[in-house]
Amino acid sequence: MKELVVVSGKGGTGKTSLVASFAALAKNKVLADCDVDAADLHLVLAPTVQHREDFSGGKIARIRSERCTACGACREVCRFDAVSEGQAFSVDPVNCEGCGVCVWNCPEEAILFEEAINGQWFISGTRYGPMVHARLGIAEENSGKLVTLVRSQAKRIAEEEERDLVIVDGSPGIGCPVIASITGADLVLVVTEPTLSGKHDMERVAELTRHFRIPAMVCVNKWDLYPAVAEEIEKNAIEQGMKVAGRVRYDKAVTKAQVVRTSVVEYTGGAITEEIKSVWRHALYGLG
Ligand code: SF4
Ligand code: SF4
Repeated sequence: MKELVVVSGKGGTGKTSLVASFAALAKNKVLADCDVDAADLHLVLAPTVQHREDFSGGKIARIRSERCTACGACREVCRFDAVSEGQAFSVDPVNCEGCGVCVWNCPEEAILFEEAINGQWFISGTRYGPMVHARLGIAEENSGKLVTLVRSQAKRIAEEEERDLVIVDGSPGIGCPVIASITGADLVLVVTEPTLSGKHDMERVAELTRHFRIPAMVCVNKWDLYPAVAEEIEKNAIEQGMKVAGRVRYDKAVTKAQVVRTSVVEYTGGAITEEIKSVWRHALYGLG
């Protein structure tokens, strides 16, 4: 079983639209949406949730007022200003970092240390096969942990159902969530736009893939908007040890396909579809 992770330096590069087309082209696969902060693959794939579970990214303190003697020790030791004294001492769940220091310093054992529910993850059916996805609560962190969970569930399903490919819509950026998206993958496909920031983003992702020794390819999306920059990005990618998977042109069909909730390759038989199919073939070849 192989794992292809599609990433981009930032959001809005057309990464998810490309993943939706790959979902339509690939045969025996499981899909994983690791863009847990702004999951939008489900908009195209219209999943039917079959299994859902709470996600806990850590712990949180909670004061039991009936045991609290208002000594103030917890507020003194909390470095995150999460304990406040109103009518009674209480912990602000948004500020609480779950360090547990207050719990160990309360003389009355009045503070509970409980699993915090930070989001949910799902196993769903789609018209392209099973998909694992997740939703992180507003202002929640720990998305790296949730990304790891989504990937491992997708792999588990692939093994159980003898599916030979996991396609991951990776997290944007270059922080913890994207590292959690790519470590151990068989191939990373970097989708970028022909702009200076796109070039910069590609270089930063290239550094990551080099660091983790993961084979990587680049695909310049909307290449015809700035062909010279597209060329420069590809040249840079090759210099950094990456391969070029191909280019995809700008086409209004991408937005039109999204509006009717389908993939580009199913929406149009135009030149863009041929380009996406070519990128897909190169990615498959790269997976070996
Ligand atoms: S340390 Fe314990 S007893 Fe003291 S204020 Fe905090 S919760 Fe109450
Ligand atoms: S667990 Fe840590 S961050 Fe949360 S209230 Fe206690 S001391 Fe503050």
